[in-house]
Amino acid sequence: MTAQYFAPVASPQHPRSTFADRHIGPSPDDQSRMLAAIGYSSAEALIGDAVPGAIRTDRPLDLPPALSEPQAIARLREFAARNTVVRSMIGLGYHGTHTPGVILRNVLENPGWYTAYTPYQPEISQGRLEALLNFQTVVSDLTGLPVANASLLDEGTAAAEAMALAHRVSKRKDPGAFLVDADALPQTIEVIRTRAVPLGIEVVTADLSGGLPDGDFFGVLLQYPGASGAVRDLEPVTAAAHERGAQVVVAADLLALTLLRPPGESGADIVVGSSQRFGVPYGFGGPHAGYMAVREGIQRQLPGRLVGVSVDADGATAYRLALQTREQHIRREKATSNICTAQVLLAVMASMYAVYHGPEGLAAIAERTHGHAAAIAEGLRRAGAEVVHASFFDTVLVRVPGRAREILAKALENGRNLRFVDDDHLAIACDETTGADDVAAVLAAFGPAGPAPEPAAQAIPEVLRRESPYLTHPVFHAHRSETAMLRYLRKLQDRDIALDRSMIPLGSCTMKLNATTEMEPITWPEFADIHPFAPVEQVQGYLELIGELETWLAELTGYAKVSVQPNAGSQGELAGLLAIRGYHASRGDQDRTICLIPSSAHGTNAASAVMAGMKVVVVKCDERGNIDLDDLHAKIDKHRAQLSAIMVTYPSTHGVFEETITDVCKSVHDAGGQVYVDGANLNALVGLARPGEFGSDVSHLNLHKTFCIPHGGGGPGVGPVGVREHLAPFLPSHPLRAEAGPAAEPDGAGVGPISAAPWGSAGILPISWAYIAMMGPDGLREATESAILGANYLAARLAPHYPVLYTGRGGLVAHECIADLRKITKDTGITAEDVAKRLIDYGFHAPTLSFPVAGTLMIEPTESEDLAELDRFADAMIEIRREIERVADGTYDRDDNPLKNAPHTAATLVTEDWKHSYTREEAAYPVPALREDKYWPPVRRIDQAYGDRNLVCSCPPPEAFED
Ligand SMILES: *Cc1c(COP(=O)(O)O)cnc(C)c1O
Repeated sequence: MTAQYFAPVASPQHPRSTFADRHIGPSPDDQSRMLAAIGYSSAEALIGDAVPGAIRTDRPLDLPPALSEPQAIARLREFAARNTVVRSMIGLGYHGTHTPGVILRNVLENPGWYTAYTPYQPEISQGRLEALLNFQTVVSDLTGLPVANASLLDEGTAAAEAMALAHRVSKRKDPGAFLVDADALPQTIEVIRTRAVPLGIEVVTADLSGGLPDGDFFGVLLQYPGASGAVRDLEPVTAAAHERGAQVVVAADLLALTLLRPPGESGADIVVGSSQRFGVPYGFGGPHAGYMAVREGIQRQLPGRLVGVSVDADGATAYRLALQTREQHIRREKATSNICTAQVLLAVMASMYAVYHGPEGLAAIAERTHGHAAAIAEGLRRAGAEVVHASFFDTVLVRVPGRAREILAKALENGRNLRFVDDDHLAIACDETTGADDVAAVLAAFGPAGPAPEPAAQAIPEVLRRESPYLTHPVFHAHRSETAMLRYLRKLQDRDIALDRSMIPLGSCTMKLNATTEMEPITWPEFADIHPFAPVEQVQGYLELIGELETWLAELTGYAKVSVQPNAGSQGELAGLLAIRGYHASRGDQDRTICLIPSSAHGTNAASAVMAGMKVVVVKCDERGNIDLDDLHAKIDKHRAQLSAIMVTYPSTHGVFEETITDVCKSVHDAGGQVYVDGANLNALVGLARPGEFGSDVSHLNLHKTFCIPHGGGGPGVGPVGVREHLAPFLPSHPLRAEAGPAAEPDGAGVGPISAAPWGSAGILPISWAYIAMMGPDGLREATESAILGANYLAARLAPHYPVLYTGRGGLVAHECIADLRKITKDTGITAEDVAKRLIDYGFHAPTLSFPVAGTLMIEPTESEDLAELDRFADAMIEIRREIERVADGTYDRDDNPLKNAPHTAATLVTEDWKHSYTREEAAYPVPALREDKYWPPVRRIDQAYGDRNLVCSCPPPEAFED
């Protein structure tokens, strides 16, 4: 054998040697071909023409040189080594849990689940929709309320959303007051306050153990069990609140609800909380799925995403997102909330935890947890300490006058983090992972104790014991063996199209590679098993990684300071707008409340502005899709004295680099306003331009778009907010972690926390850190250039067949392009939706449908798709255009054709009597390559309206699936 036998197999011209080479799909040869196809000889020339000189930076990225994949892993191991994994018994809404291995590996570590998009195309999303419906059923059953969503971002924001919902339901015109249990989680109280201030709502906290204080409240929030561990009967306060016309919100612990009477049975109107302890690791604060359930009658005002049951074209049961007309992308400033990206992957995990354990399994975990807490309480009493609350579930509050610090330190020596309450009190929280050794270690910290008591004592009053059944649906009983569970996960996964199957060309969503090396660290115990309120000495690795990431993001965007706390783009928007609000207020400009938003903006912008207490004024776009400058100047003049900000997306949501952006920024600044650039489209800017340099004051970025956090089927996300120096004091802070906020918070003008956890979804930040570290400054810029090249290549290939709406200089687009179907629809009756559904028969996820322009498809290929895949997609679109032609020329019937009937299931094709005007072959295999690799949709086109009229949002009975 010759040595050359072992030579690398990459082509000798272009070995893929760096991470950037593998992240970027097209090889240099392919790039040359793509450039030639659009009439360019070099990437520099293309970028020079596509990106306006006025925004180009002259300062290259000052970032460390690219690391290789092994080097990045080694650096991440160093960070990990500087975190200390200590058994945390801190509680406060975050608890230890065992992620079943079958769920860890086959969901959290499985690209089939984590690279999927939000299920807006339900026909290719039946798997995750079923998992989410299971989640809703879990929440609905456990809380005792009929309708639950899937999902909210965390417990704190869920509580804040509940306050807003209660206010809507109250139909009050004035802001009014919201009463909060003093025993609510401290971070929840502060997130509520952050949200209340801009709306003028007064937040009153009070000890509710003795009943309601005097006053007029539109809503009351109770914590169940309380932060102190206390379990109290909800009924007296609920009844008293209802008597005063207030809505009752209960923030409840799902595991406790397996044993405790559910809030729905005590009269609660809204129940919120976190599903973290259902198998989702701490991750230093997130991501975890928050939840919300509501009583009958207010489901149509529920914030967030709701999965519902409907039927497909054959009348078969099928799932899809329900009541989307409440959401920000339709209702804009009138939406029920700004939530877009939620926490789908984590909701899927929590639902599967319930499927895996079933009701008896969950109850056994809860009983064991409770038993250990009861044993600790008994041991403490025997040792002479005072246990403050006789009724508790998992958390014991103990009074140890003057000794709290000393015992805390002792417990830490014994390897346990307890919660410091004050000099005289400690709290100890038990969870699924607690064992007899933990009980012994805790008791030992309090002084010499006798043998630990048996975990048998009971501290739940008989009247509060749960009697109603839950999780009775067969899905929670059918998958108990690991084999059955594995196959259930696989079955659902196979119903969906994720990035592991084909490109997902969704404009505005940047569905790029989520590299395996980026994903690896998130399940390492040193990142996964860290409680968000663990002592700062134990989290040094995390703080260094976060500090480095924030610095890098600041360098990439040209801002002075970045906060990673917001856990979605929408939350970054709110944080940024609150910073603007705080800044104006600090200068005595309280009256600056007008926010200008172009008509093309993403719906979250308007919804966030309203949440920040602003009034939205829409600025028109001209016929080329750009901001109409005449209208802009007219609106600036009209609102000069009240102008707070403009919110613009750059490049625009039309996928175009607007030449006038620097003028827009200047005009707004001249009028005393601030400029918010929505940075969700940063994939077209990284390394080429910095918003902080071309005139913007503040932006949010979407790490789940540009910076490789996978979309998870609809979340998690991270929406860091970056600001120029003058806004830095108004970044988010955190009540339990000063380090997470601005160094110099102005007296009383601080914004407060945007998320429940100090660094938001910290557990997934290693993904974006790894991406930047491995790409390096050159790789990042090349990725941007390649993304712009890919979009222009697709635009060039599609333009002869579909008009490309809106282009910038030289007929070029930025990182996405819009195929305009409107004339085709007028001529042939074939709609953009028909094309989207027909693409499923070709094995593709549709592009973004009818956003930002109705009747169009917006296509964003990203840099990660190679030329073969880009061509496969373009070929499919062109073949579909030919099919449309056959409708136009009468070969196909106008109503009975492969487009109107798409997608086609296997079952439709094997029916005895095929009566259509096209063949089965044309239906299933319109291009030859499909014979080799075919995705079969599990359902036909789904009837959206039917499901909204007949709203069903929990698991349908098995009979629903019978013929
Ligand atoms: C995705 C997106 C958002 C919202 O981000 P989420 O993380 O989904 O909340 C806002 N603006 C634009 C332009 C976007 O593309």
